[in-house]
Amino acid sequence: MEDPTSDLAEDVSAEDAPNCGTCGEPLADATNHTVVTWIADGEVQTTHFCDDACRQQWDDSESE
Ligand SMILES: [Zn+2]
Repeated sequence: MEDPTSDLAEDVSAEDAPNCGTCGEPLADATNHTVVTWIADGEVQTTHFCDDACRQQWDDSESE
């Protein structure tokens, strides 16, 4: 299926799309994209991941 907005999405993604906290991929097109939020130093921290596998890898590296 053609996506008539794909050209526009490229312009938007650089500024608006988050990058995966594990592999650094831009998440503009990631349909399984996962978000983790937590509180640190009194502020809400947010990290995005392209899927649950990347989220799990990040979990593992943070717990070491
Ligand atoms: Zn990733």
